[in-house]
Amino acid sequence: MNSIATLRDAVKGAVVLPGDATWEQERLAWHLTNDQHPAAVVHVTGVDDVVAAVNFAKQHGLSVTAQARGHGATAALQGAILLRTLGLTAIEVDEQARIARVEPGVRWGELNEVLAPTGLTGLPGSSGDTSVVGYTLGGGLSWFGRKYGQAANHVHAVELVTADGEPVRVTAESDPELFWAVRGGGGDFGIVTALELRLFAEPQIYGGRMTFAAEHAREVFRSFVAVTKSAPEDLTLWAWLMNMPDAPMIPEPMRGRWLVMIDAVYLGSSSAADALLAPIRAAAPLLSDTVGTVPLNQLDGVANEPVDPVPGLLQGTLLSGFDESAVDALIAAANPGQPSPVAVFEVRHLGGAFARPQPTDGAAGALAEPYLLFFGGFLPSPAFTPILEAAMGEITEAMATWDTQRTHLNMSSNKPVEVLFPTDVLSSLRAIKHRRDPNGVIRSNHPVG
Ligand SMILES: Cc1cc2nc3c(=O)[nH]c(=O)nc-3n(C[C@H](O)[C@H](O)[C@H](O)COP(=O)(O)OP(=O)(O)OC[C@H]3O[C@@H](n4cnc5c(N)ncnc54)[C@H](O)[C@@H]3O)c2cc1C
Repeated sequence: MNSIATLRDAVKGAVVLPGDATWEQERLAWHLTNDQHPAAVVHVTGVDDVVAAVNFAKQHGLSVTAQARGHGATAALQGAILLRTLGLTAIEVDEQARIARVEPGVRWGELNEVLAPTGLTGLPGSSGDTSVVGYTLGGGLSWFGRKYGQAANHVHAVELVTADGEPVRVTAESDPELFWAVRGGGGDFGIVTALELRLFAEPQIYGGRMTFAAEHAREVFRSFVAVTKSAPEDLTLWAWLMNMPDAPMIPEPMRGRWLVMIDAVYLGSSSAADALLAPIRAAAPLLSDTVGTVPLNQLDGVANEPVDPVPGLLQGTLLSGFDESAVDALIAAANPGQPSPVAVFEVRHLGGAFARPQPTDGAAGALAEPYLLFFGGFLPSPAFTPILEAAMGEITEAMATWDTQRTHLNMSSNKPVEVLFPTDVLSSLRAIKHRRDPNGVIRSNHPVG
């Protein structure tokens, strides 16, 4: 029996190894383009399994990594033991203290469902399918982040298994250094078995998607620029240009069309939101408008992100600004209406609390950049990769004036770690990693090195 097979004796959960009948399915991530090859997959059943897997890795000179859904998969886990956490789904909400404790298999859609009747919310992003833990370790860019900042900066406590195989509960008081690193530094500092998150009272969410024909892209994007210039922190707007293939995985009405869309989420009354959105609605004839009251458990309907795994390439770039000339440059490069391998262009408005550093922040810190551009396309076959990469390179070139050469950990695909963190933050993360895990037993999707 080879040594990796003895992992089956060490853990209670199912272990799947290369050569097993289900291996080819089990090793995959949601992000299908990252053709990952771990040493083994373990479906962990609890903290004991995580401790056992970390100790096994230590003894056998291996690394351990964790994935819930694998939306954030990169090439980094090759040869590591992959802990699948989707079985760990407990959610406990203390409404009085406004804290939710979630295990690492919990998805945002599940937490939103539990919180909806309470009038409290965490800081969810656009997809209900991403795990709360994976998203938060990477910073967490929420619909509500302009008001509250990144999700990682609102973690109250972290339960994790360290590289030494110790289960610990870490707070700002118990271990300030580790508590800082894990809140935005990614999954390199321990295998997280639960997060305690601060909750916020938000009685009313108003939002949805306004869709226009792509021939109006310039006017609609310019209205986005105008409204975001003075938007209150309760309002978050994202502008999209979409060129969707005519394929069953694409939901209607996007399938086979170029469209321009503005997604809005407002924390407050419908009348105040409608007044703020008036210039956008007036920019061009609306094809559809879903903006209305949004119960928290339907928040992921706003952006209608794909749930089924997709092969594709996407990359994010933090922008120094997004003005009318940036709109013109982006639209000229995207060339809506014409065939293009690039299918999605999304500009997210940041700013507000995202940009304000707080002394209690984790490694996620503040984001000075006021906008983020996220773009990419689908890969019907690997042979298509150079074509898509070349087209994405042209977009990057067109946006060079506004491109800060920095990106956000959750929006970074396989970008080098140097562009994910400011230099001082990266050196602190590296120093902590080298002190706490000199042999690299824990490995994230973006090892700090
Ligand atoms: C459709 C879509 C929409 C998205 N929208 C947003 C958004 O609005 N805002 C935003 O910020 N991000 C967004 N993301 C990015 C998403 O947050 C990241 O991909 C993130 O990694 C979460 O995905 P996941 O739960 O599948 O994580 P996984 O891919 O399962 O995990 C990501 C990484 O987190 C670490 N990790 C996960 N679990 C653990 C654990 N238990 N212990 C230690 N480390 C762990 C590992 O390093 C792992 O590789 C979106 C992604 C997609 C695909």
